[in-house]
Amino acid sequence: MLYELGFRSPFKEIKVCRGIDEVIQYCEEWQEKRDSYPYEIDGMVVKVNDISLYDRLGVTSHHPRWAIAFKFKARQATTRIINVVFQVGRTGAVTPVAKLEPVEIGGVTVSSVSLINEDFIKEKDIKIGDLVLVERAGDVIPYVVKVITEARKGDEKPIQFPKNCPSCSSPLVKPPGEVVWRCININCPAQVVERIIYFASKDAMDIRGLGEAIVRRFYRLGFLKSIPDIYRLPYEKIKQLEGFGEKSVENLKKAIEDSKHRPIHRLITGLGIRYVGKVTAKTLSEHINCVEELKDWSVERLGTLPDIGYVVAKSIYDFFHNEQNIEMLHELKSLGVETCEEKEKKVEHILDSKSFVFTGTLHCCSREVAQEIVERLGGKATSSVSRKNNPSCCWRKSQLKVEKSPAVRSGNHR
Ligand SMILES: [Zn+2]
Repeated sequence: MLYELGFRSPFKEIKVCRGIDEVIQYCEEWQEKRDSYPYEIDGMVVKVNDISLYDRLGVTSHHPRWAIAFKFKARQATTRIINVVFQVGRTGAVTPVAKLEPVEIGGVTVSSVSLINEDFIKEKDIKIGDLVLVERAGDVIPYVVKVITEARKGDEKPIQFPKNCPSCSSPLVKPPGEVVWRCININCPAQVVERIIYFASKDAMDIRGLGEAIVRRFYRLGFLKSIPDIYRLPYEKIKQLEGFGEKSVENLKKAIEDSKHRPIHRLITGLGIRYVGKVTAKTLSEHINCVEELKDWSVERLGTLPDIGYVVAKSIYDFFHNEQNIEMLHELKSLGVETCEEKEKKVEHILDSKSFVFTGTLHCCSREVAQEIVERLGGKATSSVSRKNNPSCCWRKSQLKVEKSPAVRSGNHR
């Protein structure tokens, strides 16, 4: 319908293919044709078109198995490295970034590229002044493929890695076995800004209107010196700033107010604990009612959770045993940010007044986990058969949507 109404849509390009060979042929055809297209495309989506197969194919933790993207070959170009600067990230990692003579790759002008770390520079033997082959891997992030060594004139300069943080000047450290130099000063301005940006980002607290540029600006103005400052912004002063009006300040205020009531996994993500992304944050939130409870978890106990190994467990433990972090949590809480959530409320009680007995080996999980799922859904799990057991306990997986249960979410529940 959108196509008929004149919107740009891939309606004309959609093709039903019979068998994978035809799919591959069609993808390759478009890889050739992409340059003749009026706008940039970076791949195609291949989908199973029989809806009845969707359930059988299932889903992984982040994508359905009945749809997959085919990415076109990355585009490449050669250009020269003018200079190398060093950026400090949220976790203190120092990343070398090469400034390039601007070059167009697949419709986008690339003027800088990450050189990842010191080992990468050594391995590729990259120098300032070098001509390099750059590609946009996945057509998004630029990457140095190699140095065109034949083009060297002899005046290229080696890249000197700094010994001190470019933001706060504290000495950089590189723990044995790691490849990244880090600034370990927790109050390092560059890191503080990155942490605030991350806290407000879409994956974390999702505060619209508090994007990277605004955070940097507020930081420079002294409005934002820490994460809790987000909830103490001087709106009257912000109204006076260029680019801000009554309306946009109202919107910002509302977005910030709303963020106080996000599910706690978003808050955990936003804390920026090293190695804890949104998936691990969800896992943690499933096992607690309040974020503060994590203070009492030992490394061993954290390690019993799914997909949390020693390094991650240790990092979480360390975070919750750092006074400054606990202080920040208290501050957030006193400013109205919810650190607890009611678990029961979120579950549909679809098994109310039904009782279940699990016997033998289950396909999905242990009997304990199955009992837990039933209980979370409002049912009763008993240990022996009685007249009260519900005789028909057969239902489709799709009816068993419990966001809080990893066993169900993994899609292999029967
Ligand atoms: Zn620093």
